Amino acid sequence: MSFQTGKGNAPAQKKAESNHSNVITAVVPTEIAEVRTDILANNRSLFSRKNFAAGEIISEFGWRAMYSEPSYLTVQLSETEHVELFPEYLECINHGCDPNCFFDTATLQLIALKPITAGEEMRFFYPSAEWDMDQPFECNCGAKNCIGTVQGAKYLTDTQLRKYRFTDFIQQKLAAKS
Ligand SMILES: [Zn+2]
Repeated sequence: MSFQTGKGNAPAQKKAESNHSNVITAVVPTEIAEVRTDILANNRSLFSRKNFAAGEIISEFGWRAMYSEPSYLTVQLSETEHVELFPEYLECINHGCDPNCFFDTATLQLIALKPITAGEEMRFFYPSAEWDMDQPFECNCGAKNCIGTVQGAKYLTDTQLRKYRFTDFIQQKLAAKS
């Protein structure tokens, strides 16, 4: 299996290769989604409990804390604003290079990028909202277009940039860079 660093996971750590089956426990079911915890890997993920159409609003969000520096838990709003999400379970959405949702930091809405079916894992592309990540990691998401090292929008190639939707802040940074 692959190792994914999620917003809600412990700081990046290498996971030993093993053949054990994962112990999955569903906790914090909400109307929208449920958090599943892989206890052995200390890894949380968020799975949808509803069907969403492409473009549909999955959830409004806000924040419970704001910091001037990024951490593995935060989502970037601007140069100096990094927030811990509210509702809190949204921080369990893992990174994927073929994401099905997007945090629109202008409207404060979590948006479905493509149809999502109940039972499907929600994933967002971390660099869509992060310019220069606090804890880069090696992605192993299995997507055909997996970008490998995930370290923020700053490090994406032009080809990669064309494939994704980015927050207003990241779009401003990209425009200033070119
Ligand atoms: Zn990947």
